[in-house]
Amino acid sequence: MVAAIEVRGLRKSYESLEAVRGIDLSIAAGEVFALLGPNGAGKTTTVEILEGHRVRSGGDVTVLGHDPGRHERELRERMGIVLQQTGVDEYLTVREIVTMVAGYYPRPMDPAVAIDLAGLGEQADRRVNKLSGGQKRRVDLAVALAGDPELLFLDEPTTGFDPSARRQAWETIRGLAGLGKTILLTTHFMDEAQYLANRLAIMADGVIVATGTPAELIGASSSRSTVTFGLSDGVEPPSELDARPTGVGWTIETDQPTGLLHDLTGWAIAGGHALEGLQVTRQSLEDVYLELTSAEGEADA
Ligand code: ATP
Repeated sequence: MVAAIEVRGLRKSYESLEAVRGIDLSIAAGEVFALLGPNGAGKTTTVEILEGHRVRSGGDVTVLGHDPGRHERELRERMGIVLQQTGVDEYLTVREIVTMVAGYYPRPMDPAVAIDLAGLGEQADRRVNKLSGGQKRRVDLAVALAGDPELLFLDEPTTGFDPSARRQAWETIRGLAGLGKTILLTTHFMDEAQYLANRLAIMADGVIVATGTPAELIGASSSRSTVTFGLSDGVEPPSELDARPTGVGWTIETDQPTGLLHDLTGWAIAGGHALEGLQVTRQSLEDVYLELTSAEGEADA
């Protein structure tokens, strides 16, 4: 495994505030890695140190074999960065901007390809100030792709997008991963992390509280499933199943969903009861996230 990013014991203090408190990270080349965590967890601080935009207080950081703190040109040419807000010249067309930026790089991507990858093929000859907010964010992506980077930093890439623009952005990011790019993204959306990331880390209060694949994080946290269903008025499930009434039906927590479903459906069939909307759900990544980040908050309190 070739590491694109290696972080050991990274620390960052802002005067008396320790925003990042000794974190380790290893991101392989070609991986899509998501950094999650509540507001103020230290994600932006960490990512901006990796980008070379902030100075670390301690620890070792290697990005594509370089120390980003040295601001070497070769490293800059191999990275693409999409910030939450960037300023491109809005009076130029998409194609003019991307072509101009591509000119700064030794081995750029064909501007038309960068524009297509960002999903702006139809807007290529429009001025940026005539585009919608979501389309402008795609211009930022096209600009970040102009130098044909190996490594892309995406800071909350779909914040403010409508559902269909989000899906399109996800497909774009998957396409970039398919081209072998390493992608580090920050996000507040669990479904986004689950859909896009090979691995993720959850940060809280300056430390990493969990890291792994989405499946590992969900699996490690709990084997509990929740079974929910509705019954006709006046019908109650047998007491040994330990069902709790909810506003719209019944819910049962279990570590043994197979056996429980056998008992429940056996009872329903024998008695001629319909189990309306029967569902079995595992803990979601969001449940795990909330558990881990609130545990951290409680420990601090
Ligand atoms: P968000 O999800 O809100 O973007 P984040 O996880 O990216 O949060 P950071 O922006 O890294 O968090 O901030 C971590 C902590 O460091 C916060 O308490 C923040 O107030 C503080 N901080 C960040 N930048 C600075 C700065 N330039 N000067 C002083 N304190 C800062």
